[in-house]
Amino acid sequence: MINTLENIPGAKGIDYRSFHAFKHREEPLLFDRATGAVLEIGEGCFTFFSALERGATWDEAITESQEVAPQFQLEDYQDLIRGLRQRGMFQFQRVDHEEQDAYLRRLWNHKPRRIQLLMAQGCNLGCRYCYAWRNGSNQKGTLMTFEVAKASVDFLVQRSGNRPNLMVTFFGGEPLLNYPMVQQVVSYCKSIEQETAKEFSFEIITNGTLLTREVTDYLAANKFLMMISIDGWEEMHNYNRPSLDRDTCYQSILENALYAKSVYEAQGLHPIKVRTNLTSKYHDAQSVFEYFDRLGFSKIGIAAIEPLPHGDKSPSAMTEDQMDETADHASALVLAAVEKIRAGIPLSRYEKRTIEGCFENPQTRAIKGVNCGIGRNTAIVDNKGNIFPCHRYEGMMNYVMGNVFEGMSYEQTMGYYRKVNRNATSRCHSCWIRDYCTGGCAWLLSSKDGTLVDPTERECNRRRAGFEVFLYARKELRRLMPAAFATAENRDLAEFSSCGSGKEGDSCKCATSQCDHGSD
Ligand code: SF4
Ligand code: SF4
Repeated sequence: MINTLENIPGAKGIDYRSFHAFKHREEPLLFDRATGAVLEIGEGCFTFFSALERGATWDEAITESQEVAPQFQLEDYQDLIRGLRQRGMFQFQRVDHEEQDAYLRRLWNHKPRRIQLLMAQGCNLGCRYCYAWRNGSNQKGTLMTFEVAKASVDFLVQRSGNRPNLMVTFFGGEPLLNYPMVQQVVSYCKSIEQETAKEFSFEIITNGTLLTREVTDYLAANKFLMMISIDGWEEMHNYNRPSLDRDTCYQSILENALYAKSVYEAQGLHPIKVRTNLTSKYHDAQSVFEYFDRLGFSKIGIAAIEPLPHGDKSPSAMTEDQMDETADHASALVLAAVEKIRAGIPLSRYEKRTIEGCFENPQTRAIKGVNCGIGRNTAIVDNKGNIFPCHRYEGMMNYVMGNVFEGMSYEQTMGYYRKVNRNATSRCHSCWIRDYCTGGCAWLLSSKDGTLVDPTERECNRRRAGFEVFLYARKELRRLMPAAFATAENRDLAEFSSCGSGKEGDSCKCATSQCDHGSD
């Protein structure tokens, strides 16, 4: 009697976790986890693989499948599996803890190309969802000194090894509260370029309130990448991001952003990016996108303030129901865009944006569980010189990884990476989208006491449902637009304009939608 896939001649090593059988719009599909391939299959095959995925024995799976496709015998499935295996499918690697640890040690030895400085840990806005308020670190007046900033730059130079191009990101709070120090740091970086054989570039994340013409001209002259946080239209922005002195400053922020946009365009610089957070009160991503699109912004970032799985407070976060609604809406938009392409109807920019990711090969990018640049290119330094994994950890002292005066702590850094990596080796290990997800944003899972929790089942269901829609849409687009899939590596998006969700200068977007900060 054959009870496991391992018993099939030529199919040794097949694991039920190596594939996923699902139906979309009544169409049975088989997804192969290692290759990312999606196959159209018949009802018998679907029943057979679904049963195996649920944990049925071979006998049970054959019996079930023959109820819908009596013409297929065990040998037929054996032949099918054997043939697909020869094409690289049905591979599954069990956790190899030594290999995982070697991978984490490589992260420890990583040579970063960027450092982020909390120029001011205070802010002149009181955003309802601000993690710095929540973490207790938003203290007006706590500006970074030159001593800490210089040590941070020196730390980056020393840790970056032979990398010739380095980036300093000015973050906050509001970094322009410490504008003279921004200028001083830029001058310092330039002054050491020759002796260190490094070339520096700069980036700033600002709320736009202090972005005067003079400041913009300075940032443009020094080719800063710039991201301005604006939450949509006036009413939305004023609700989400009120000024501390209760004045509304929306109009001046918008004017500042539009001036910066015009200067950057005139000088051929990397486009200004505007970025909005969606909250429980305002969570219509499409309206936000279309609003900024009408204003002429080409780079538009939109992300949700998500509910936290560990129960720590996340003020103004979207509710689980709203997250479900938003995810369903996004899936419906993807499917509608595919239908429009099928009917030859041109897509709006927003529709193009919704399907842009479908042209990317679903690579197994997250296999080790650390899927963004935490502690490396997203590391952030506070005004005491403490190093945190990324900006969202600001003030969460259980996650300090070292400091710029004494360097990274091996124990704290590796301890943190091991906690994050636990996702890959435990709960997520059996999940069919593990290689493409692995828990998502580590910060979301990080509770203040230093423990990392699992994502909620509801969040996982959203991700899996969304991934099924992505796979279906990708399969259909491949049929409708074969030229766009000419090679696995090169997507041909000539007919799709870039809309800000891809490359950002030389830094990539996170694997998740949580922030705009790069990985390696
Ligand atoms: S959906 Fe959930 S269980 Fe699956 S990989 Fe993502 S976080 Fe892990
Ligand atoms: S995804 Fe972004 S916010 Fe989340 S841990 Fe990584 S760098 Fe931080």
